[in-house]
Amino acid sequence: MSFLNSVVAPALFPSILWRTSERSVHITFDDGPHPAATQTVLKILHARGIRATFFLVGRNVQQYPEITREILLEGHSVGNHTQTHQVMFLRSADVQRDEIQAANEVIGKFLNSKPRFFRPPYGYFDLRTLNIARTEGQRVVMWDVDSRDFSTSRPESIERSVTKSVTPGSIVLFHDNASTAGSIGAYLELVLDHLLQRGFQFSVLPI
Ligand SMILES: [Zn+2]
Repeated sequence: MSFLNSVVAPALFPSILWRTSERSVHITFDDGPHPAATQTVLKILHARGIRATFFLVGRNVQQYPEITREILLEGHSVGNHTQTHQVMFLRSADVQRDEIQAANEVIGKFLNSKPRFFRPPYGYFDLRTLNIARTEGQRVVMWDVDSRDFSTSRPESIERSVTKSVTPGSIVLFHDNASTAGSIGAYLELVLDHLLQRGFQFSVLPI
C-alpha cells in the first residue's frame, strides 16, 4: 500500500471509493472480458466461492458477450472501465463522456441497468472525469492494494506484497487481460488461498 494511495489521494478525493468500511476484502479485475484470462479467473473464484468485481472494457464486452454473461451468472459484480481503455486524464470532457457513456450502454444491456461503478484506465483521472461520473450516477472506484500483476513479478512476489498489505475493507487491483493470461492462474490462487487461510472473507463492492 503506497502512502499516496492510502493517505494522500483519499484525503484529496473523498468522493472516490479507495477502500470500504466492510470487514470483507474486495477483489477487483480490470480490462476484461478476455477469453483466456477471465475464464481462468472465473474458475478460481468459483472453486473458492468468492465473488469479485470486474471492471469491463465496453469493446471487449461486445467481442466476448458470452464471457460477460458468465461473469454475471457466477454472481460477480461489474463496473465500467471505458469503451476503448483510453487515458481520461486531461482529455476533453466530450471524449471522456463518450468513453464512459458508450461503455455504460454496452454493459447496461447485460444488466438492464447502468453499472454503478466506474474505474478510470491506469487509475488516471481529472476533475472532468469525476464530474462526468457523478452526472452518470456512478461511483469512481480506485484501490488501496495494487497487485502490480502487469509487471513480470514472480507469483510468490505478488502473493507476498498483496497479502502483507490487505486489511478488512481493502480493494485489491488485478488485471484479466492479454498480458496476465499466462500468469494469473498461479498468483491469484496463491493470494486467495493465503488470505482464506488467514480468515479473510470476500465480497463484491457494496452499492
Ligand atoms: Zn485497465
